[in-house]
Amino acid sequence: MAPRKKQAPEAQPDNSALAPVAGDEDKRLDLTLRPKTLDDYIGQDDHRENLRVFVTAARKRMAPLDHVLISGPPGLGKTTLALILANELGVQAHTTSGPAIEHKGALAGMLTKLETRDLLFIDEIHRLTPIVEENLYPAMEDYKIDLVTGDGPHATTIPLNLNPFTLVGATTRTGLLTGPLQSRFGIILRLDFYSAENLARIVRRSARLLGTGLDDEAALELARRARGTPRIANRLLRRAWDFAVVAGLDAIDMPVAKLALDRMGVDKAGLDELDRRLLKVLIEFYNGGPVGIETLAAATAEPRDTLEDVVEPFLLREGLLARTPRGRVATHRAYEHLGLEAPRNAVGGQGNLF
Ligand code: ADP
Repeated sequence: MAPRKKQAPEAQPDNSALAPVAGDEDKRLDLTLRPKTLDDYIGQDDHRENLRVFVTAARKRMAPLDHVLISGPPGLGKTTLALILANELGVQAHTTSGPAIEHKGALAGMLTKLETRDLLFIDEIHRLTPIVEENLYPAMEDYKIDLVTGDGPHATTIPLNLNPFTLVGATTRTGLLTGPLQSRFGIILRLDFYSAENLARIVRRSARLLGTGLDDEAALELARRARGTPRIANRLLRRAWDFAVVAGLDAIDMPVAKLALDRMGVDKAGLDELDRRLLKVLIEFYNGGPVGIETLAAATAEPRDTLEDVVEPFLLREGLLARTPRGRVATHRAYEHLGLEAPRNAVGGQGNLF
């Protein structure tokens, strides 16, 4: 049966509003809004409390904290947590990213600058080149690195001792890391999407810092529609604030929040244009699947990484998408969400026990 489409009046969506990856405005917002202590870090309670113990122990021992690996989709607070750790340890944070460390000389330059117990944060650590990664192993394990001077036959290797340091690596998925690298981290944290209650606490704190009023109801509405992601919640707050200012309001109330969300193309479940496009392609072109990720990437004209790192994790969590050995399938809820009639055997439907 041909899927029946319900035509919603299309708002002009601002596609950047829900992109979890940081843009320039986010970076400016980060400076104001990024929590600096574990107490201010909202949600992820188990991780936060464990880290508090590990940090206190490291400080008492006057030893560096074990190396930490933080994984999770973009915008969930990996960089924030790394910077908080440095702050709580009372050490300097040095930040870089996997692709920025182009060769082992650059890595050596970075490692030799570290003072005792300093923290080195490598974002997108899964994107280190194999040679740089291999050079990182002895640095992580024994605080040693081989410096190579000269070229060709005149090259000499000078072993160098480094100051004991903590490496904090961030990655969107731990599965992207090689086994040897992963095994060198003592602490591994997987960040999860945030509950609406915790996101509401985050936007209320942000509103205070930005200096705008925000009704509780409006805070919860922004939180519910932020894809479980603090960066998106803060961005939605910022846009809603724009609408409030233009309307001459001192506080963001529910009607203004709803207006801003609708104008940004964020639907009731917090899905953005790309989320909906992926589900529509899956349902309308491929009968709901199963479809391989490469095919979906081609059909949506989006890089596979974006689909796997950004779009899928949220749709899976919301039960709108399911993964099977033969590919991705749209669930009964996905049909419902798009206002389409689901086939009887759709995953999660009455005719399908799974
Ligand atoms: P990631 O490194 O995972 O992409 P960031 O650490 O840059 O994400 O977080 C994005 C923004 O979201 C931060 O600037 C911060 O304002 C906010 N944020 C993230 N996690 C939290 C949290 N647990 N509590 C409060 N704000 C948070």
